[in-house]
Amino acid sequence: MREWYSPHNRSDANDNRPPMPRPRVRATRHAPAMKVLFATPEARPLVKTGGLADVSAALPAALCAIGLDCRLLLPGYSAVLAGALDLQERAWLYDLPGFGAVRLLQGRMPDSGVPLYVIDYPYHYQREGGPYQDAHGRDYPDNAWRFALLSRIAALLSSPASPLDWRPDLLHCNDWQTGLAPAYLHFAGRPVPALMTVHNLAYQGIFPPDLVTALGLPAESFSIDGVEYYGNFSFLKAGLYYADWISTVSPSYAEEIQRAPLGMGLEGLLAGRRERLTGILNGIDTADWNPSSDLHLPCSYSARALTGKRRCKLALQQDLNLDPLPQAPLAGVISRLTYQKGIDWILAVADRWVAAGGQLVILGKGEAHLEADCQAVAARHPGRIAAIVGYDEGLSHRVEAGADLFLMPSRFEPCGLNQMYSQRYGTVPVVHAVGGLKDTVEDGVTGFVFLEPSAEGLWQAMERALALWGDPDSWRRMMLAGMHKDFSWEASAQRYAWLYRMLVLTSGR
Ligand code: ADP
Repeated sequence: MREWYSPHNRSDANDNRPPMPRPRVRATRHAPAMKVLFATPEARPLVKTGGLADVSAALPAALCAIGLDCRLLLPGYSAVLAGALDLQERAWLYDLPGFGAVRLLQGRMPDSGVPLYVIDYPYHYQREGGPYQDAHGRDYPDNAWRFALLSRIAALLSSPASPLDWRPDLLHCNDWQTGLAPAYLHFAGRPVPALMTVHNLAYQGIFPPDLVTALGLPAESFSIDGVEYYGNFSFLKAGLYYADWISTVSPSYAEEIQRAPLGMGLEGLLAGRRERLTGILNGIDTADWNPSSDLHLPCSYSARALTGKRRCKLALQQDLNLDPLPQAPLAGVISRLTYQKGIDWILAVADRWVAAGGQLVILGKGEAHLEADCQAVAARHPGRIAAIVGYDEGLSHRVEAGADLFLMPSRFEPCGLNQMYSQRYGTVPVVHAVGGLKDTVEDGVTGFVFLEPSAEGLWQAMERALALWGDPDSWRRMMLAGMHKDFSWEASAQRYAWLYRMLVLTSGR
């Protein structure tokens, strides 16, 4: 068994290591693997609405690979019950006020085999539609109960009252859906430390105040020093306030959320806890996103043999009815279509891009008016712009491979994944200088980074890209610089492991 604390793991080469006190206690040489319960509302490939699902699949697998005993906890949505491996009944949980008897299953994640606990409670989780919304995009009216249950069970499994013989050393919570868990743990005497990771502060889980006591928290927790958020009850604030430590998914976003507007009303709390707030960049799944072995692509390529990328571009142009022009710079966009993602800025420069000889592919799903606007701009430019409204994993890989550049002008971006996939696929990213975009794209080296938050700012960066496109050797140098960057999960997993150790060793529990 690997030891979970080793001075050698705290490598000084770990240059982006978060500032935090060094653990004072060393475990013995043969200390058992550190146990971590990773509570999350979504994990790929079982259930995904965004980047959190990618992180929830890849990070626990990377933690297990470096010797931790990390297990997932997920709600038993129909897709989870159908897709998880070897699910078996593990326990019945009775002591959950407001919920009756709840069955806990244990199995494994597909692909990675990471151990998984599933909350089998059909009344709350087995539904048509997505994990948070029905088929018409409306939030489920009982979301507070659904995710209070997830939080409750996360806290219960982390406490001496757990019916399992496996108890974690630390609870890792992810986003508002698990935000009540640190509060439940706090009021249960803090048996283990809790880490609260924010993947996107824009989603806070806001509910009416009368649910505070209904969901099992003491009335006095409804205060500014507690779960109150401007007169309402915020699940995320509960997590941020009661967790032992807060992390977010890039160092720049960790700074940005300590101020308005990106603090989204929580900047005071976050700035007040800045000594306990760390940014750790997400990695990417380098097996899934590898142009030399990607089964979604019509042909493979690598930094050493780039010819296949040209064929991927031609195939994409043909599939999407774009003119098969090798010399036209083809820009790709794969995104939730929301205000956050700066889609309106892309649409505002689309005519100019086409006039300059460019092509554009947009793959996305989201706000109805943005979906309609994307389709309208494509209709205006047949052969030059394609808009595919929908969620299509295979096509997202083919766009990454077939495009020459990738547009990601997000107004804010906690980390972002596509700019990293793009660099790995030799597709030059054009990004706004915020959050993880700023932390992962090197301006003029692996992509183009613009400062001014507007369509004009984006356009100026696209003009710089056009100028470089006219110089094939320099373009190729930029492609290769991106393709050689290391975005694997291992470095991030080491940082989380270091943070876990520090929390456990300094918690004194
Ligand atoms: P966010 O989590 O804010 O949506 P990220 O960049 O962190 O943004 O992650 C988005 C993930 O979802 C990426 O893996 C991206 O490729 C994928 N994605 C987004 N929209 C689509 C789509 N329409 N089709 C396929 N994949 C998509």
